[in-house]
Amino acid sequence: MATYHLQIVTPDGLYYDGEAEKLIVRSTTGDVCILAHHINYVTALGMGVAKVTIDGKDRRAACVGGMLSVHEGEVKLVSTTFEWSEDIDLERAQRAEERAKEKLAHRDTLGDQELALAEAKLKRALIRQSAAK
Ligand code: ATP
Repeated sequence: MATYHLQIVTPDGLYYDGEAEKLIVRSTTGDVCILAHHINYVTALGMGVAKVTIDGKDRRAACVGGMLSVHEGEVKLVSTTFEWSEDIDLERAQRAEERAKEKLAHRDTLGDQELALAEAKLKRALIRQSAAK
């Protein structure tokens, strides 16, 4: 399968810099799939499980926020947080899920910002668990 150069970066550093065959990632408007020879493109990222195909093997990751760009065949995923499935601490994500659910159980007492934060934390925790499995 044809490949392209993919870079995955977050504020924590470089997570991938090499050839890839396929990238599937959640944008703010739905899943997008990038194959070789994709047209120039930019989109904002949502929160979801990303799938990257490298040397015929699929790798999964939790990918939260940021942006994706394709320019002249170079693909850059700049994400707020990105964790390969094998690097995800499942127990930490389960604890984060419990904490967020405890907060959301008292949603009437939360302000708009606190509510949005708890909902986002719950979503991140669930995505991490899904990516890790
Ligand atoms: P927590 O409450 O467990 O910190 P969180 O959703 O608030 O979860 P983030 O603010 O999204 O965490 O991430 C902070 C940093 O910790 C990022 O570098 C992220 O990649 C990392 N991280 C968060 N949760 C996990 C996890 N379960 N496994 C591995 N790395 C994680």
